[in-house]
Amino acid sequence: MTPTEVRGYINYHEGIIAPLHKNYSLKLWDLSLDGNNEALSKALITAKEQYLKVYNNRAEFRQLQAWKATGLQLDDIDARQLKLIFHAFVPNQIEEEVLRDIVERETHIENTFNTFRANFEGGKASDNELREILRNESNMQRRYAAWEATKQIGQEIAPQLLELIGIRNREARKLGYSDYYSMMFELQELDEQWTFSLLHRLEQLSEPAFTAMKSELDATLKRKYGITESESYPWLYSDPFFQEFPAAGAVESLDEVFSGLDIEALTRAHYESIGLDIDDLLRRADLYEKEGKSQHAFCMDVDHEGDVRVLCNIRKVERWMSTMLHEFGHAVYDKYNDPSLPFLLRAPAHTLTTEAIAMLNGRMSKDPEWLTKIAGLSRSDAQRVSASAQKTLRSEMLIFMRWAITLIRFERELYRHPGSNLNQLWWEYVQRFQEVTPPPKRDRADWASKIHLASSPVYYQNYVLGELVASQLLRCIYKNVVKSENYVGRPAVGEYLKEKVFKLGARYEWNTMLTKATGEQLNPEYFVAQFV
Ligand SMILES: [Zn+2]
Repeated sequence: MTPTEVRGYINYHEGIIAPLHKNYSLKLWDLSLDGNNEALSKALITAKEQYLKVYNNRAEFRQLQAWKATGLQLDDIDARQLKLIFHAFVPNQIEEEVLRDIVERETHIENTFNTFRANFEGGKASDNELREILRNESNMQRRYAAWEATKQIGQEIAPQLLELIGIRNREARKLGYSDYYSMMFELQELDEQWTFSLLHRLEQLSEPAFTAMKSELDATLKRKYGITESESYPWLYSDPFFQEFPAAGAVESLDEVFSGLDIEALTRAHYESIGLDIDDLLRRADLYEKEGKSQHAFCMDVDHEGDVRVLCNIRKVERWMSTMLHEFGHAVYDKYNDPSLPFLLRAPAHTLTTEAIAMLNGRMSKDPEWLTKIAGLSRSDAQRVSASAQKTLRSEMLIFMRWAITLIRFERELYRHPGSNLNQLWWEYVQRFQEVTPPPKRDRADWASKIHLASSPVYYQNYVLGELVASQLLRCIYKNVVKSENYVGRPAVGEYLKEKVFKLGARYEWNTMLTKATGEQLNPEYFVAQFV
């Protein structure tokens, strides 16, 4: 066994996987735009299966294990690639028929989400339509009906998802892990215990601030809707999961600010102001609502060579402004990779680091400086809006943190004890962490209406870690890059991100990359100081 042989294998693997990755991405993109197309759905299943089959090869996996065991001296780039290849092989060491079965089930669940439109008031309603009612309606009966409609999909998804979880767990146990959840943590280079003790700390630190903020918010909302009862049911809020700050809770709604603005143009202006050009990315994106199109938002790097695509469903509200800034954060990370790195390393260091960049920019739509410089609010308007916007941003972070804790803790139980009373556990957690009153006598699979549990398993912890990294990067930018508390309008910001984050790609493990970029490992204190 020599390093040259290993390098030969890595090159061979890259030659196989790069075109399959591209094909799979393109098929996924096509189906996301036209979810009702049977042929596209079949094409996606085939493409995903071809891609995963590479990692299903038993003989190659034994070879990789042998190389791992001998402790070969490889250079950094080869060692890193070999480790990533190994991690990709592990979860796919299963029978071919089982692999196909899993792919079919996953595609079916994802597509149910893409094409589902809820029954509402005698017709069909899209996610955006129901959310609009939750944002603007003051009649509580109608708010309840809209909230309830957003949960319909859960009943449809839950049985399929539970079957899939059973299969995932069974296969993970065959591979020597306690369950699929623990396996995915390890393969994502995340320490489960460390992550959960961090969550516990964030939960404790955020509790007093969250409780105080929420009781003020609830009082505002109840006054607005003329409610006298003390319960805070979930349809009081504008987000069906209470994961965002309710528009109606602000002194002045930011939705009004964005109702007359061009969200696409503002996204371009934002990135231009920090020295990052997204014109090519905007041209490739698909940004507006369509029948049969996925109702969510995502960014995909098709080929690691510049074909980066964003999908959104823009409406002129603050949520879509923030989502656009978020998705194009992923996109610039992908776009500005280092072309001299090999295919496998021309990718973010970790899901949590690309989320960090997305979140750092996604926060800006509530930033007073951004509202003046980019959204063009007059100074008097900005002064009026900014105090409220600042408060909204802080509230939003607290709300998101408590929501994420709910979802992450629930997902671990979902894999550890899939046979327990999940409908009940869900509302226990919502009540405990989010302080929302469960609907009376509710026994429905409301948890299964959250798309991440179905289509991005064991993912949500990356959002929390991403927020922490975003705050750490921002502090470092203030202190070392722009040497003031300014972010927008500073091309040095983009330069720093390109050189210290984007170009490193996946060549270092995420915490090493973070240390190189900011001078220290992940430190949650920056987030706590900023928002808690
Ligand atoms: Zn994201």
